Amino acid sequence: MEVTPGACGITSKIYPLALPRGTEKFCELCQGPATLQCTKCRVTFYCDAEHQQADWAGIHERICPLLIPIRTQSLCSLTKADQIHVELKKVELMGICMSVAQSKLSERKYEEALPAAQFCLRCSMDVHSPSANHLIPAYLLLAEANFGVSNLALVTELLSQAEWAVLKSPECGHEIYQRLHRSLGRLQVATGNLDAALLNFANDIYHASEAYGLDSTVACRGHFLMADVFAKQGKTAIACSMFSEVAGTWHTHLTKHIETHIQNVQPSFDKSQHTEVDETLRTVLEFWQNEDRKNSGQIALVAHCLAMLWFLGGDSQKALGFGNVALQASQLIPNHDLTEPIQTLLQLVQNPQREQHPGCN
Ligand SMILES: [Zn+2]
Ligand SMILES: [Zn+2]
Repeated sequence: MEVTPGACGITSKIYPLALPRGTEKFCELCQGPATLQCTKCRVTFYCDAEHQQADWAGIHERICPLLIPIRTQSLCSLTKADQIHVELKKVELMGICMSVAQSKLSERKYEEALPAAQFCLRCSMDVHSPSANHLIPAYLLLAEANFGVSNLALVTELLSQAEWAVLKSPECGHEIYQRLHRSLGRLQVATGNLDAALLNFANDIYHASEAYGLDSTVACRGHFLMADVFAKQGKTAIACSMFSEVAGTWHTHLTKHIETHIQNVQPSFDKSQHTEVDETLRTVLEFWQNEDRKNSGQIALVAHCLAMLWFLGGDSQKALGFGNVALQASQLIPNHDLTEPIQTLLQLVQNPQREQHPGCN
């Protein structure tokens, strides 16, 4: 009996009599007792239609057929060569889930990222032993998805698992330490422990600088998060200085991207960063637009960044809007050195026919 329409995958009821004696099936998402099964692969089970649909949209659509060889064969009955083949399939599956979860997270689709992140952790546990340091990226991914849906209790638990695994893995690289400290810092901010958050973000910046360079966009985001905490604590002087640094770094990066864009070189701007950069720059812009510290130079700089970002992202309306804010602010300062580049950008946005490859990517 078919229960759900094809667009969301098809399920049928599990007939307990059709299962071998003593086998109970559990829901792919919540691990509760299952009553439905995916009709396509017949190796994935759900407690109800809601969990089936969430899993289908989150990850199952991508991996449904891949699960068949993994879940239907018992490893001990296979030859050595076939066992290796199944293990390699699991690693492939893990890679798919990780990249799906990451791309959904970068689009801020936290709810949809959950099934992929959850599957990724389960698959990592299966491929590696539960204590292996290979689980750390999966813990961090699942923590980030849960952070997005405000499940802070689970975030705390996952991050302590990750911390524990990091402690036991002295070979962990700066990249992992950086991600761990960033997640811990964000959790501290969410639970109101601002001083602890500052310590985590300082570590985040240190490891980001070691892994990607001091001027990297990863280190820059760390500076932003730290500045935001100082702003929340009312430490305006240090927040001002750090926000200016953040805007300066982004201005340099985006100016380079615009130059390569004009030269028709394949753009190197990573679209997955777009949402995060937009959020970073808007927060900084609002900070400088606040009546108490209105700073035309900084408003021009940050609004110019946002205009470049949206021009590269192919949204000329937003690029024009921010470009005009930038121009107005820069014209308040006599002979401001940004006035000309802002005017050039505005012309570029308004005359896209002069370009051979408008938009980003
Ligand atoms: Zn369920
Ligand atoms: Zn399936």
